[in-house]
Amino acid sequence: MAKEHILIVEDEVKIVSFLRRGLSYEGYEVSVAYTGQEALFKARQESPDLIILDLMLPDMDGLEVCRTIRSKSDVPILILTAKDAVSDRVAGLDSGADDYLVKPFALDELLARVRALLRRHKRLMGQKVLKFADIKMNISTREVWRGDRYIELTPKEFDLLELFMRHPNQVLTRDLIYEEIWGYDFSSESNLIEVYIRYLRAKLEAKGESRVIHTVRGIGYTLRE
Ligand code: CA
Repeated sequence: MAKEHILIVEDEVKIVSFLRRGLSYEGYEVSVAYTGQEALFKARQESPDLIILDLMLPDMDGLEVCRTIRSKSDVPILILTAKDAVSDRVAGLDSGADDYLVKPFALDELLARVRALLRRHKRLMGQKVLKFADIKMNISTREVWRGDRYIELTPKEFDLLELFMRHPNQVLTRDLIYEEIWGYDFSSESNLIEVYIRYLRAKLEAKGESRVIHTVRGIGYTLRE
């Protein structure tokens, strides 16, 4: 089995080496970003299985880093914060983090959180039936229902809907959709996505059901009630 890859985002060298040592010893593959910009780059480039994110970074607000990563990926994010004000914790979770730890923390506590997040994420990814509002998708049989109504989708339409169902309430950019569904960078002039979204909406709304795939002007689309 491939090692699980953890990206540490932290500018304090002492904490980085403490975390790197502890996580490597547990068998994780570890990489490090020392700035917010580097974190955004590596989160995309390396597709880590989990991100440990310090909120106090030299170049960017950690919460902004968190939100940006979350808008493109459902990778588990564990926030480290020196602040222990409740509002900061809530802001962290609001920005899409899965859990947080207040500094200073014990390594055992961090490792336990990491294991729990990785386990939960794997369970979610392994799900065979995805549900959102009254839409149900069976990934194994590739069947889709809206309420009791069976919906027949082409393979591409199915893949597109699955992408939305795996990232509900997140804005998916056009670039991300192209990359995930067509597997290469398409000219942004192309209206391929618009065409498929139109097909998908027509099938999902054939009996006058409410719209769930919404346009986010200038950015992309989101699955939302
Ligand atoms: Ca820091």
